[in-house]
Amino acid sequence: MTSQLVLRLASAAALLALAAAAPALAAPGDKALADVQALSADALQGRAPGTPGSALARAYILKRFGEIGLAPIGAGFERPFVFSTRDGTQADGINLIARIPGAAKGGKAMVISAHYDHLGVRGGEIFNGADDNASGVAGLLAVAEAFKAHPPRHDVILAVVDAEESGLSGARAFVANPPVPLSSIALDVNFDMLSKNPKNELYVSGVSAFPALKPILDAVAAKAPVSLKQGHDTDADGKQNNWTDQSDHYAFAEKRVPWVYFGVEDHPEYHKPTDDFATIPQDFFKRSVATVIAASQALEQGLDSLTVATTTP
Ligand SMILES: [Zn+2]
Repeated sequence: MTSQLVLRLASAAALLALAAAAPALAAPGDKALADVQALSADALQGRAPGTPGSALARAYILKRFGEIGLAPIGAGFERPFVFSTRDGTQADGINLIARIPGAAKGGKAMVISAHYDHLGVRGGEIFNGADDNASGVAGLLAVAEAFKAHPPRHDVILAVVDAEESGLSGARAFVANPPVPLSSIALDVNFDMLSKNPKNELYVSGVSAFPALKPILDAVAAKAPVSLKQGHDTDADGKQNNWTDQSDHYAFAEKRVPWVYFGVEDHPEYHKPTDDFATIPQDFFKRSVATVIAASQALEQGLDSLTVATTTP
């Protein structure tokens, strides 16, 4: 038996265990919680790019793509790429890309992005990254499910990207070799850390750069089950509080694709081994998921007005 085969069998066994641990539940919030639990399990070893744990994460996400009924763009969901790590060595990453076709043909598309990688194992400790960013992937899957139930007018592209933690590499690979022309993407909606805030606050960044988003997001905030706050997109409170270049949406910004980002403020578990499923406040996370579903649907419905507003000089 080759070591390759042993590895594959071990992965299959671990995946079956994962599937058993995360039964399909009725409510979207419960499903999202089960997704976070599965993606932040110790078996996935912190989902560092190129590791067996990363492959297990992809297998789980692809299983969920299948359950939701998502279709790839072209031959398959997996889009491999090569990137330079922070120490300059070359490494392999894999993005997972799907599309929900819009009812109106030939218009603009909206991308939903979330990174599935995290920091792996460091100093013998597993960095499970439950909030960062199993929560964002779970949110993306919940949004995909909502768009399958209530089909969008525009194409919605789901981009579950790798290697964010090593310099937004998966998102940069996406925009460097996009599955559809970049000029057809009206907006990137990025999720990174949706699950933890003691003040019931979820932030949405990008309104300062794209004021056309404001009326749409004001209307979402008025009905949202969390306090949906706009901000963290200028240097007004110091450079470190400006999130414009802090996650995958920045790769889109660099290519002049409008973006909007949903996430919580940093918390004590941020980039710590304690960022585990057990430390996620479940009620807040469910409210956060409901909020990003409503926001994504509203942004998709308003996509044409955004296109006009953001391309006018
Ligand atoms: Zn992150």
